[in-house]
Amino acid sequence: MSEPTSAARDFDGLTALVTGGASGIGAATAALLTARGARVAVLDRDVSGAPEGTVPVQADVTDDDAVRAAVGRAAEVLGGLHTVVANAGIGAIGTVEDNPDDEWHRVLDVNVLGMVRTARAALPHLRKAAQDRPGCASITLTCSIAATAGLPQRALYSASKGAVLALTLAMAADHVREGVRVNCVNPGTADTPWIGRLLGQAEDPAAERAALDARQPMGRLVGAGEVAAAIAYLASPAAASVTGTALAVDGGMQGLRLRPA
Ligand code: NAD
Repeated sequence: MSEPTSAARDFDGLTALVTGGASGIGAATAALLTARGARVAVLDRDVSGAPEGTVPVQADVTDDDAVRAAVGRAAEVLGGLHTVVANAGIGAIGTVEDNPDDEWHRVLDVNVLGMVRTARAALPHLRKAAQDRPGCASITLTCSIAATAGLPQRALYSASKGAVLALTLAMAADHVREGVRVNCVNPGTADTPWIGRLLGQAEDPAAERAALDARQPMGRLVGAGEVAAAIAYLASPAAASVTGTALAVDGGMQGLRLRPA
């Protein structure tokens, strides 16, 4: 088993693929893994925002052939694949009465099947990586506290992330003896371009942002870099015994029971 090394360069000699790595949490993760020594590929439908020093592999996660080709290309260019961060995802707002079937199919296709396709294409590479560097082969999925929190106006999004949580646990069981670890992070409301787009639709975006901050237990949103740090931990050699875990990075949103003063 690899001994944990200094966090500064603990990904030296390792390779990683980050889906949705051209924006927000994914971009912060790709940049952090690169800074910590990994060779990193970014799979995104729009790779224009892929961080400097990463290898862009354009694909839409709803296209199985494109995902297979992009994952293969990433493994070839990087010389293998030790870590996959399945992070690409989209939002959806509304109750079950608001979203018609085609919207359910569209969101589940990205948020659930997109992660399945990514894992399926990557697993043969990860099994090899587990032989190369025991403890260092992993998949980390970006889930959400919506998977378990019972948030209003998020029926479709929550169902998609509930599936991601179940998928994490099932894949962790299926691949534990192959040396491939599978975990997820559950961000609370994280400060990414996604939230910026939502706020942009408000009448007064600055006031809406202040109200959103005020609703958080810590009085602020979670930073994309803070979620990236949790993903990096789960993917790192230091987490060699960690699998089947959901790590919340939510500023206390789910665990705390705060009452109004
Ligand atoms: P973002 O919109 O900033 O980034 C998402 C990235 O995914 C973009 O680069 C986009 O191009 C890519 N992407 C979307 N659909 C794709 C597709 N079909 N194929 C390939 N790439 C695709 O969003 P973010 O906030 O960084 O979200 C990243 C992940 O974090 C998502 O899975 C989201 O559900 C999850 N999450 C976000 C928050 C939040 O508050 N921001 C909270 C909990 C969970």
